[in-house]
Amino acid sequence: MAKEPIFVTQPLLPPLEEFIPYLQSIWDNKILTNNGPFHNQLEQALCDYLGVEHLALFANGTLALLTALQTLRIRDEVITTPYSFVATAHTLLWNNIKPVFVDIDPKTCNLDPAKIEDAITPKTTAILAVHCYGVPCAIEKIQQIADIYGLKVIFDAAHAFGVRDSGGSILRHGDLSVLSFHATKVFNTFEGGAIICPDAKTKERINFLKNFGFANEVTVMAPGINGKMNEVSAAFGLLQLKYIDSALQRRKEIEILYRQALSAVPGISLLPPAEQTSANSAYMPILINKDAEKTRDAVYYAMKKAGIHGRRYFHPLISDMPMYRRLASAKQENLSVALDISRRVICLPIYPTLSHAEVLRIVETLATALKKQVAG
Ligand SMILES: *Cc1c(COP(=O)(O)O)cnc(C)c1O
Repeated sequence: MAKEPIFVTQPLLPPLEEFIPYLQSIWDNKILTNNGPFHNQLEQALCDYLGVEHLALFANGTLALLTALQTLRIRDEVITTPYSFVATAHTLLWNNIKPVFVDIDPKTCNLDPAKIEDAITPKTTAILAVHCYGVPCAIEKIQQIADIYGLKVIFDAAHAFGVRDSGGSILRHGDLSVLSFHATKVFNTFEGGAIICPDAKTKERINFLKNFGFANEVTVMAPGINGKMNEVSAAFGLLQLKYIDSALQRRKEIEILYRQALSAVPGISLLPPAEQTSANSAYMPILINKDAEKTRDAVYYAMKKAGIHGRRYFHPLISDMPMYRRLASAKQENLSVALDISRRVICLPIYPTLSHAEVLRIVETLATALKKQVAG
């Protein structure tokens, strides 16, 4: 009998009957969006849970990133990573900003701080860094460089829900941090996102910008966008928060099980486990070694054929996409580490409802795919 396919992720869905009272309350009070009661409750609940002071909810992470750049009036050139989801760079183009790609550190898959200064020009205004796979960037080094050159720092923290360092949430760093609550993320509101900011004044500016720029009934302060989170999504977020600790715990157990089982598989490497931070086990990336018998794509397709749907995340590099590849900084020789990892990575399935047996089946399928001669 054919086994059920396993996909790279599954959303965290609390029991449906627990969601009904939230919907009833929305029907009762007839407030669907625009700073509704669930929206405001979720902002406070997330501040409490994450340990941050000011957080503005958004309809999705991309609108939050777009608005973060607007909030700080970022322009001209921004240093960023080619090894991310395409939204990171797209939000620069939407703001008429030129992305300047800098290579990554192979140990973290994040911007290599040693390569940032070479990319700074008189037009550089900010660094847009990503905590890839929930692994924190070289936050201190990036901030030091930013301070010397007078640059703003924005962290795309779409992967980093709940990640802390010794001082607390990593979301407190930089000028702004941005979360995504997309269905595929650790914490989801179907679609959603947030900006974490340091003070009430900035939060007010963000609130104006996410509501078309309305500062009051008659004043529009900027060409803002519609970035507001609706009440159904906010209510879902509140319900899901009740389950997030057990979900994160389960992710951690799965990562530990994976690391044990994968240590017996020749031909692959893992990123080092998080050291000084609490990881969120959001992703399970593996790298196919250069001297392995099979290429990454051969392994990826063989696993898919056997019903295990990993993801080549991130491949291709953003810098190799048609709207970016003509930039001087997009040259492959400038980004050799990112290119190498992008050619060797597979993210294995990881989500709270993945069973012990399924993890072992995935690892077995991977081991077989690494060995077997694959036709075509
Ligand atoms: C998911 C993601 C985004 C975009 O978030 P959406 O909520 O899907 O708009 C941005 N950056 C990174 C790194 C992401 O993974």
